[in-house]
Amino acid sequence: MIRKNFALPTNIRLFGEIFFQRGRECYLVGGAVRNMVAGWKPSDWDFATDAPPSEVISMFRRVIPTGIKHGTVTVLFKQEKYEVTTFRIDADYSDGRRPDAVTYTGDIYEDLSRRDFTINAMAINLNTGKLIDPHDGRADIKRKLIRAIGDPQIRFAEDGLRLLRACRFTAQLGFRLEEQTEKALSTCRFQLSNVSLERIRDEIVKMLDAEKPSIGFLVMEKSGILSDILPELSRCRGINQKGFHSFDVLDHSLYACDGAPADRLLIRLAALFHDTGKAVTLSTDEDGFPTFHRHEIESEKIAREVMQRLRFSNAQTDAVCHLVKHHMFHYTDDWSDAAVRRFISRVGREHISDLFALRLADQYGMTARTMEATNLTSFAKRIEAVLDKDMALTLRDLAVNGKDLMKVGIPAGPLLGTILDQLLEAVLDDPEMNKKERLLAIAKSLHQQID
Ligand code: ATP
Ligand code: MG
Repeated sequence: MIRKNFALPTNIRLFGEIFFQRGRECYLVGGAVRNMVAGWKPSDWDFATDAPPSEVISMFRRVIPTGIKHGTVTVLFKQEKYEVTTFRIDADYSDGRRPDAVTYTGDIYEDLSRRDFTINAMAINLNTGKLIDPHDGRADIKRKLIRAIGDPQIRFAEDGLRLLRACRFTAQLGFRLEEQTEKALSTCRFQLSNVSLERIRDEIVKMLDAEKPSIGFLVMEKSGILSDILPELSRCRGINQKGFHSFDVLDHSLYACDGAPADRLLIRLAALFHDTGKAVTLSTDEDGFPTFHRHEIESEKIAREVMQRLRFSNAQTDAVCHLVKHHMFHYTDDWSDAAVRRFISRVGREHISDLFALRLADQYGMTARTMEATNLTSFAKRIEAVLDKDMALTLRDLAVNGKDLMKVGIPAGPLLGTILDQLLEAVLDDPEMNKKERLLAIAKSLHQQID
């Protein structure tokens, strides 16, 4: 049973009071109402009022004019952040993204009509707790449907971002698209060219927060949107694999993404991109099976290209690329301690737990089912044992540094770097080598050999 009256949190009631005392209306709107109606937890609080922004600003002590051009301000009220937007009607959308002008209105019904989907166009009157639902969002919540308000083609043409919001909501809510809305997704996909890459990224990031992002990516694929915004993924469709894999590379990547922890954006991105290089390294072995030699190197390049294009930060891009590059390790119990040390040195001890999380996601992506942990547990124990011994694993741990080498006559430059790397290799093989005199001796002989 879906309720018609809502018990609102005290802070929200108090917030509403401030509006009523001035003879103004205030409604809870947007995702919070949708979630409350569906019985889920609201994620953020959006409000609509007939008070113009200047009046809202005058009503509270701490107000940030976050979207003042569109009538939105953020009020800091009792440790919470409330977005308040004056009821508005949007004038023409000549750029396919932002209304040319906004007109304020005194009518909540008009305001609800400009919103994107029926499930997002309900309001709760803060004074009475009563739900207003002119587009029958409740029925669509029951049916688990995302339906555009009015003609979906017109609504998508007004604002291309709505296409991505539709895809994102399928994943976030686990809802389907209503038939006409789904059709319009394909016919209007060119509208995405009006949406900035940052906004596209933001929607993808929100989608990656869903329990199963694969739902949204598959909706994007069906409408053609995936090949417009992430062609690097869509071309993985139909690339089949052998062995334990039940899926082609695209489905495997999407399910691997589902299998990564929902609150770990970077691991989810790494899972999404880790095998994209298979589309460009595909070849066939002598028995006719597909092979993807060194695909992780191509996947890393692709991940970097995509993340740069979508304006992810350099730090995020580097972190994802590092995981993608190192995802192909094959530990067995007969690895020597030196091999374990080389692995830690290569990956970096601070990245190992993320790489293991990626491996678990990768395994999930093979069957879309959680499987028994493989030998990761015994590998983790070996790694711990090596770390406990506190042996040299990085250049910084070496008993000599660049200055020491320069003192014995090796000039600064790339050669010095190469020699240091080789010293580290020697120490990873045999920790006993990590003595200043021994390393200087090796360095000198290497220098003579190369020089
Ligand atoms: P979330 O749970 O992610 O916050 P939300 O539905 O609240 O989802 P917001 O971006 O916070 O999404 O927007 C609040 C409300 O504003 C939406 O529910 C919708 O009514 C309206 N809205 C937001 N973006 C658009 C848009 N591009 N076109 C039309 N209406 C929109
Ligand atoms: Mg919201």
